This record gives sequence, C-alpha cells and structure tokens, in this order.
Amino acid sequence: MKINTINKLCCPFDKQDLQLKILAQDTGKNVIEGLLSCKCCSRVYPIVYGVPIMAPDEYRQIQVEQPIIERWRIEYKLDPLNLLPG
Ligand SMILES: [Zn+2]
Repeated sequence: MKINTINKLCCPFDKQDLQLKILAQDTGKNVIEGLLSCKCCSRVYPIVYGVPIMAPDEYRQIQVEQPIIERWRIEYKLDPLNLLPG
C-alpha cells in the first residue's frame, strides 16, 4: 500500500490520526509490513502483506496477529506491543 494512502487512514474508533512505522517496503515504495498506532486509544494496527488490519476489536483475530507481531518484535527489534488496549 502507498504511503500517501496510508497517511489518509485514521483510527476507526476515535478518528484520530495514526502514526506509521514502516518495517518493510517493496521496490515501488509500497509499504509491505508496518505498524499503525493510535496515540489516543493506544491500539496498534499491523500492515500485513501490504494490507492494514483495522477491523473492530470483536472481529480482530489476535491469535493470527500476535505471531506476526512476535516475529516483527524479533526481526525489527520492536518494543513489546499490545494489539488491543487494556
Ligand atoms: Zn484510536
């Protein structure tokens, strides 16, 4: 996904701007892997295979997302991240 497109996204819960952390890009500067985080509600939305995962809490598959975050944590030396607040 293009950075310009990602920058237009906002948090689905509180409509606040999201901070983008790019982890991997392809040769066309598309973001392949990254993290979108909301300062307001401290949710984190991963970008996986170029697709931001921004479903409401009840539809998010944390058991699917958690291993990705865990891999990134090691690969990109990220601080531990909570996918959902609380
Ligand atoms: Zn938010």
